[in-house]
Formats: sequence, C-alpha cells, structure tokens
Amino acid sequence: MKKVVFVLGLGRTGLSVCRFLLQKGEKVVAYDDALPVEKVPRALVDSSRFSFSLPEQGEHFEEAVISPGIGPSNPLVQTFQQSGVPLVSDIEVACRYISFPLIGITGSQGKSTTVSLLGNILQEGGFRVFIGGNLGIPLCDVFNDTAGYDWGVVELSSFQLERTHTARFHIAGILNVFPNHLDRHGTMRSYAEAKYRIFDNQKNEDFSLLNGIQTAWQPPRIRSLRSRTLLFTTNGRLFEGIYFGGNQLIAMLDGKKIAISKEKWALPGRHNLENLAFAALAALTAGVTPEALERAISSFRGLPHRIELVTEKNGVYFYNDSKSTTPVATKAAVESLSGPIILLLGGRGKCRNFHQLEEILVGGKVKKAIIFGEDRLEIVKHLPQSLPREVVVDLAEAVKKAVYSATRGDKVLLSPACTSWDGYRDYEQRGEHFRRLVNGF
Ligand code: ADP
Repeated sequence: MKKVVFVLGLGRTGLSVCRFLLQKGEKVVAYDDALPVEKVPRALVDSSRFSFSLPEQGEHFEEAVISPGIGPSNPLVQTFQQSGVPLVSDIEVACRYISFPLIGITGSQGKSTTVSLLGNILQEGGFRVFIGGNLGIPLCDVFNDTAGYDWGVVELSSFQLERTHTARFHIAGILNVFPNHLDRHGTMRSYAEAKYRIFDNQKNEDFSLLNGIQTAWQPPRIRSLRSRTLLFTTNGRLFEGIYFGGNQLIAMLDGKKIAISKEKWALPGRHNLENLAFAALAALTAGVTPEALERAISSFRGLPHRIELVTEKNGVYFYNDSKSTTPVATKAAVESLSGPIILLLGGRGKCRNFHQLEEILVGGKVKKAIIFGEDRLEIVKHLPQSLPREVVVDLAEAVKKAVYSATRGDKVLLSPACTSWDGYRDYEQRGEHFRRLVNGF
C-alpha cells in the first residue's frame, strides 16, 4: 500500500521531496504558510496524489518530512510529535534509495567551501560526483538524472541530522563545532549531539573524520564508533591522519607518508586550511591519487560571498564575506586578511554572542567598525572603547561611510556576524547588494 506523507515547508528542499515522493507513487499532503496556494508549482498541483493543505482532523500520515528551516516549536511539528507521526528530513527520505557511497560533511563553519572543494577534487580524480544537500542541489533531486554516480558529497546541517535516522555515510566528518543556532537547539550539548548523529549508522569499513584540535563538545559515544577514525589538524603533527608541514600537506595513512604541495592554494586564512585538510583527507580515503589532489588544490578558487575580493578602487580593496552570519566566521575573516581593515558589521544577530568579536577588534588591525542593521545598538555595546566606529541604519549607508573613510591600502570587509533577515531574503542577496553598492562608487 502506498504511504501518505506530509511535507512541511515548500522551499527548494520541500519541493524536491514532493516531486520525489510523487515519482515514487506516494500520496503527498504539503503545507507552507509563507506560500500562497496559487504559487505552488503546477507539476505538483496537477498530480491527483498531491494536495496543498493543513492536516485534517483525524487524517493519518506515515511520516512527516520537515524542511531544515523549521524548528521544534512549530505548532504542526508539535502536533505530529504528540500524535506519534515520525519526523524525518529530506536526507532520510533520499538515502533510503541511494545506492552509491556517500560522503557526509557537517560542522558549524566551512561546510559549503569544503563540500565544493571535495567535489572538485573527486572530479579531478576521475569520479562522477553528485555535490549537494544543504548546499546547492537538494539530495532528493539526485534521482532527476540517470548519470550514475561514483560518490555523493553531501552537506548536512544539524537540523537535517536531527531528523535523519537510517542514512549511512561511508565517509563522514565534522569540521568543527562552535556556538551556532542555539536559538533552536537550546544548548551547545544538544547542538553538538545533533552533529554527531552523522556517524550513527556507520559500519566497520566506514571512516569518521574528526578535527584533531576540536575536542570540546564531543559526546562520550564518540569513543565507541564502529568506523575507523582519522584526524585532520592545522596545528601540529599526527601519527595517523593529515596535517601541514611547511608548504605541504602530509597524510599519514596505513603507515605510509604522502606529501602534497599546497604552494598554489589560493584561499586566504587558517580556517580555509582546516577545510583543505578535511577535503584532502576525505579525497585520499575515497581513492583520489596525490597527483589529482594537487591539481585540484591548485585550481580551486573558493565560493562567492566568502571573503570574496569584489574590486580594488584607488588602492582600496573591497571584500564580500556576506556568508558570515556568526562572530566566529567574522573572526576567521579578519584573521585571514592583513590590515588595516574597515569592518562592516550588522544585521539580525543569531545568538547575541557579540562579545566574541572583542578579541579581533583590539590591537589595531581593524581601524574602524561601521555598524548597521537591526541589531546595531546591541553590537555597539561590545566594541572596545578605543575602536573608532560609526553607527548607521543600513548597508547602503555603511558602504558610503566606508568609502569616505578608506585610504590607499585599506581593506573594506563586509563580514556582518549576523543573518541578513532584517533586510534581505538571504546572505546571497545581501552580498549581491554589497557588490552593486561597491561597484557603483
Ligand atoms: P557553512 O556552509 O558552514 O556556512 P562556508 O564554507 O559557507 O560555511 O563559510 C562561511 C564563512 O565561515 C566563511 O566566509 C568564513 O568566514 C567562515 N569559515 C569557513 N570555514 C571556516 C572554518 N573551518 N572555521 C571557521 N570559520 C570558517
């Protein structure tokens, strides 16, 4: 008998789940309170097995697929939970049908960069690779093409992992764990716990990749993983795993030492070395040759909106790091660039942890902060007394002030440490607005 599945949230992910379930012959009831019924795509509405509505009294569902953006306090989520309807993620749904091996990547910062870098390396190594998940193409869309893949590289958010129960990743790893999304997870412990679920269904022949210098927040069960653990680090050496030695990446695997040049690596910052170490370790584990790895490292240029150089005008460099939505990400960006920096900060804060910014704002590298957006007055409270600052309403005004304040050799860095939701749809729209503003001067 075919199942009746409820899909909550019809963004990119929810729509891909609906399409996939309908292809499988299931009955789908979907709802999204931000989507007017006339905007639901025709392809779904035209199916006799699809309806767009709230659940009706007494209606039975085999499971409810909840979009990653929807938290546990949503009234429908609570209703399903109370009535015992299993809550699952799009990842759970897709993984039941995927037959090629998957590499799962999670972490607080650096997921998208690492997923696309690893995807590039595997392609350079001659593999056919699906790259997606939380980034880019939703996993349920993998069934749209019949190409046949050797590997899937999947970005996973803690929200997706929380509702993923049976997915197995042949190679799985956590890049790092910093405070993030605590508004939803409540405590660091439960946030970290969600991330460590990535290893839950691994078997002896699988691999778990862990950061050698990030041991805080590891739950005790990490010591009893069935998979083989390999470490990566940007700090010091390892007997097994991957680390840096001068201009080389050194992999120690199965008693063999492999050295790979990173001379042509183009991405700035120590944080990106962490992403590189992870991707290289996963790639070697997946069977990429050191030669292909070195070629891919040399040609990777990073993703837009992540410390992206927009332009240089009159000796002033403008960087777009709109993807930074937390103080930790802003810290990484400031540490990556040499000074003097004029830092544009602001938007809607996630966890009110702006005190973490103080550390990067003392010492003179940041010569001025320009604060904008909804939480500007909250942010200002955490600036060191000695730091010159201007407080303005929005990004347009912030860019104007930055242009007037900058002198030859300065770097104007938009790295807001906040979400964009006070004025934009997402970080991409904010970053594009920044590019237009900068190029307009
Ligand atoms: P995610 O997909 O996890 O949000 P991204 O690769 O999109 O991560 O990077 C977002 C921002 O986070 C970057 O602009 C950078 O400032 C910061 N960042 C990236 N990698 C790391 C890392 N390994 N550690 C700390 N910060 C990082």
